[in-house]
Amino acid sequence: SAVWHGLWPSVLTAVVSSLAFNFFFLPPLYEFTIAEPANVVALFFFLLVAVLTSSLGSRMRAQSVAARRQAEVTAQLYGFSRKIAGIAELDDLLWAAAHQVAAMLKVEVVLLIPEGESLSVRAGFPPEDRLDESDVAAARWSWDHDKPAGRGADTLPGARRLFLPLRTGRGKVGVIGVMRSEDLPLLAPSERRLLDALADQIAVAIERITLARDVDDARILSETERLRSALLTSISHDLKTPLASIMGAITSLRSYGALYDAAARDEMLGTALEEAERLNRFVANLLDMTRLDSGALAPRREAVDLGDLVATALRRLARPLASHRVKVDLPADLPLLQLDFVLTEQVLVNLLENAAKYAPAGSEITIRAALDDDALVIDVLDRGPGIPPEALARIFDKFYRVHAGDRQRAGTGLGLAICRGFVEAQGGTIAARNRAAGPGAAFRIIFPRTHVLAAPPATEAEAT
Ligand code: ADP
Repeated sequence: SAVWHGLWPSVLTAVVSSLAFNFFFLPPLYEFTIAEPANVVALFFFLLVAVLTSSLGSRMRAQSVAARRQAEVTAQLYGFSRKIAGIAELDDLLWAAAHQVAAMLKVEVVLLIPEGESLSVRAGFPPEDRLDESDVAAARWSWDHDKPAGRGADTLPGARRLFLPLRTGRGKVGVIGVMRSEDLPLLAPSERRLLDALADQIAVAIERITLARDVDDARILSETERLRSALLTSISHDLKTPLASIMGAITSLRSYGALYDAAARDEMLGTALEEAERLNRFVANLLDMTRLDSGALAPRREAVDLGDLVATALRRLARPLASHRVKVDLPADLPLLQLDFVLTEQVLVNLLENAAKYAPAGSEITIRAALDDDALVIDVLDRGPGIPPEALARIFDKFYRVHAGDRQRAGTGLGLAICRGFVEAQGGTIAARNRAAGPGAAFRIIFPRTHVLAAPPATEAEAT
């Protein structure tokens, strides 16, 4: 009976059994008196052993109950820590934590997190967003002094809730408040230990999330810094070089114009114009990049003839491409495309400008297109040095430039980033590789078939 029912029922059983033994078995039978003194002693020891056994048995029972309860609590704590490890948002975490504490301790929970100077309730179970004054004071005290406060604690015991600071090895991250609606003592010692364990877990999880956020912020900041300094360097370089040439040409013409013959003057003006155009492209690229960065880019789809597009791009690059042989290879029956003319032209211009810049004079640059069932593919190929394999993955990054010793050409590292931005904004993809046969870079733009309008009914139109 000790094992099944605990100490007092088992003591009662022992006493009743002794009396029954005396009544039924010790002479004189059927009376509570005992004739033999030896039997008195025997009965006494019988009772003693029974009571001792009861207490041992009941202690064993209490221990096994406690062990089972402990195992359950440990399993719940473990489950909780696994659950919160997967949470990335602070609000989700706070909600899950409030719910867990409320469920395990049968209490009402609020969680307060510092926001600037003040502490504010960020989660509660059941949901709660206001605290009365005494609770606010207790929470504040607990946060300021890093100690428990409120009901059941030494400080401000008049509050309705007990507040504990949530802290980790690195510092405090918030305050948890618990309350029971009945007029019972708030928490038994074992419950208080459980609350401490939960508070520790919650604090570590909150810290993990805030640290991750801090790291993100720092990374964004350093990225911005890096971009800014790269931008400044490239602006100062790319603006100064063409400006110096333009100013040189104009100054010479103005001061010594009479000394040059017509052909020399024309050449100097040509140089100035070429440099001004380069400057213009550079500034356009910068503007494009800002539009891409600010997300203000909204492609305007219109029916576009690829031949037109290529011709316009080539016209814009007439000068830089003058010393290259450009081969255009487009299918004769290519239908109209649904693309943003300006953006796509800029992509071609940037690719062709790179080809002109990096491939040697006199080499061939090819623009070709092909249409299959799934996609339209546009290739821009050159016979330059190609791209070092280790740089292939990065050349579309902003401000990324391949460092090629003294082969380095003027540039910003923005051209290809803009290409990718513009192509992707229109739902396409762009990739770079080196040409399989011989040296040279190959850039490939792919637009899904949905960008190709059905072929115009040309034969019908001819028939009428
Ligand atoms: P920029 O040309 O201003 O440096 P881009 O973004 O246009 O910037 O190009 C990034 C890098 O990719 C260039 O620095 C260059 O090294 C490499 N690259 C681009 N196009 C070619 C090409 N056609 N041939 C060889 N290298 C190229």
